[in-house]
Parts: sequence; structure tokens; C-alpha cells
Amino acid sequence: MSRGVFIDHYAALELKPGAPPEEVRRAFRRLAKTHHPDKSGDALRFHEIYTAYRLLTEPVARVSYDKQYILFKRAELWNARRKSIPVSRMIIPTTVAALARRGLLRPKFRGKDRRFHLKVDYDMELPLLEEEFQMPLLVPVPVTIRNLCPECSGSDSHCGVCGGKGSYKSGGVFKLQLDGGLTHGQIIEISLHGVRPAPASYYKKRKIRIKISRAS
Ligand SMILES: [Zn+2]
Repeated sequence: MSRGVFIDHYAALELKPGAPPEEVRRAFRRLAKTHHPDKSGDALRFHEIYTAYRLLTEPVARVSYDKQYILFKRAELWNARRKSIPVSRMIIPTTVAALARRGLLRPKFRGKDRRFHLKVDYDMELPLLEEEFQMPLLVPVPVTIRNLCPECSGSDSHCGVCGGKGSYKSGGVFKLQLDGGLTHGQIIEISLHGVRPAPASYYKKRKIRIKISRAS
């Protein structure tokens, strides 16, 4: 199914999934009467009907198609049930306020030093409602993006747009899909190696650890 769009051949022939070959032939003959290009039908629609008919009446091809069909329908259902989590739900334990409280806003103190002192081995926490542990979720993960300077592409140390830095930071969101079956305390690690938000930018962090917890 990674090969692009899945075609519903049963729907093309206005059939129920799993219709026997005889019904497939009957549906094809019926639809061909109105859609055949010789009878001023739409050539594209006829091609669709014909392709569906050929595949669904070819035993070997059909067995493999039916397997894919089940997976496709399952994925479709899963996606329809999927819940979008608001980005505001994400808790970042190393916020300025949290750091200030613990006196960790010292100069040259980096994020990993702070995490060490706060004893957290994750970047963000995602509190979930009871029912959400078993649901497919779409989670917006806030990320920092580095964008290559559009003016100089990082090649001019006197560039007026980036001030010679070659790039600038911006905030973004990485959409994480979770398939359910989560547990309290579980750490989910996202690898952003080789993933780019746009051709001339990259994620500042290559690895993001999200702790799943139960919302209180
Ligand atoms: Zn520049």
C-alpha cells in the first residue's frame, strides 16, 4: 500500500466487497452498456470498470487484492477514529519558569544539563485521558526549525538578512501519528534523522523523547 493511491475496484463496479466472480461479470456487462466509449460513455470511467472487472475475475490477482483491500479498509477505519490532540496539551518540563524556580537559568547551561539537574530523560510530556491510551492519535509535537538564509544560503558573513549567521530559527510542529496501545510512563522516541520540514531547513533536534502520562 506504500505504492500511492489504493483503488477500490468493488466500488468501481458498484459491488459489495467480496462479491463472487459471477456478480462481477454481471456488474461489468450492465455498466459497460452505459459507459462504453462506443456508446458515447466516458472513456476514463469505462477504463475504471474494465480494470476492476479484469482484476476481480483473475483468481490469483484477486486473492492478493482482497488481502490489500482488508488492510486498506482497516486503515481507513482507524483514521476515521483518529483523534487530534491540541498542541497546548504538551508539557515541556524545561520551560523558563520551571528552570528559574530551580535556579537553572545560568549562562552556558544547556538543555541537556538542565534535564540532568531536573532528572528528566525526556523533552516533553503528553498527558492522556483514559480513553486516549487505546486510540489512534495525531499529536502535534512543537519543534524548533533551522532555516537556511534565503538571501545568502549561509555563504555571506556580511549578509544583512541573517546577520552573517547563515540561518535563522523558527517554530514549527511535527505531526506524530500514534496507533494506540500506550501505557503510563512509556517514552516514545522520535527520530528526525534525515527528515526535513522543507528542502532548505532542518529540525534542530534530531531526537525527541516524549513521555506518556495519565492526565490528572
Ligand atoms: Zn544570509
